[in-house]
Amino acid sequence: MPDSIECLLKQTSAQLDAAGSNSPQLDSAVLLCHVLDKPRSYLLTWPEKQLDEAQLATFSTLLARRIAGEPIAYIVGEREFWSLPLKVSPSTLIPRPDTERLVELALEKIPAQACQVLDLGTGTGAIALAIASERADVAVTGIDLRLEAVALATENSHRLSITNSRFLAGSWYSPLEQQPQFAVIVSNPPYIDEADPHLIEGDVRFEPKSALVASDNGLADIRIISQDGRQYLLPGGWLLMEHGFEQGIAVRTILEQLGYAQVSTSQDYAGLDRVTMGCWLGDH
Ligand code: GLN
Repeated sequence: MPDSIECLLKQTSAQLDAAGSNSPQLDSAVLLCHVLDKPRSYLLTWPEKQLDEAQLATFSTLLARRIAGEPIAYIVGEREFWSLPLKVSPSTLIPRPDTERLVELALEKIPAQACQVLDLGTGTGAIALAIASERADVAVTGIDLRLEAVALATENSHRLSITNSRFLAGSWYSPLEQQPQFAVIVSNPPYIDEADPHLIEGDVRFEPKSALVASDNGLADIRIISQDGRQYLLPGGWLLMEHGFEQGIAVRTILEQLGYAQVSTSQDYAGLDRVTMGCWLGDH
């Protein structure tokens, strides 16, 4: 049965493997489920099921895109983050599992009582929505420079019925009234150096450069966020930022020089430096 689920999976996994995908079986299963509009369990339950002509045509178009290197998340238009199914688009970064570490650490720093949290460079809204979904009493604001990202994050909040979040367009803090108002500020900003060879490999080739690359060895945006954050954090509030695995010392130095206290770096799930945080005690 050449067009059965089982045969197609076998065949296309081999093609994707040859094309250099590092998850060929998973890729073909995800694409097939997308075309069939069925969960993964369906593929195992109905291995002999045949695809009709229209399904086959769609599947081969999607497969060709994946073979050309396009990220699976852009092809199917969705990625799960913190168990939330999020719509993604090429105008935003694809949420990474390691960024869930930033969410975990931020949740530890959010005070027990109702307060406000800010997510800078929110993209799909992943971090903001994860926090808002865990803490119904916290009002979360997400900001992104790109209007498409703001629209997408807003759409994600509606699809997930997360009502304690709002999304604004602008550069970093610019859409906000300038006063201390946040208990926690989080950000996964662009932090990759322009010359980093990993920018021409794999999924990142298809992601917006503006979400990945920063000048000053990748530290320019981290510096702005840290510097200006002092005007928006309540006394005792925390700033937490994701960064590259080799940037821990540099980010700690930035925060310490700006007067943040209790500066420390935490590791991602691979044990690499990934999130640095500091506490703003207020002007003194
Ligand atoms: N962690 C991502 C990567 O290495 C980059 C995310 C970012 O620049 N904020 O591909």
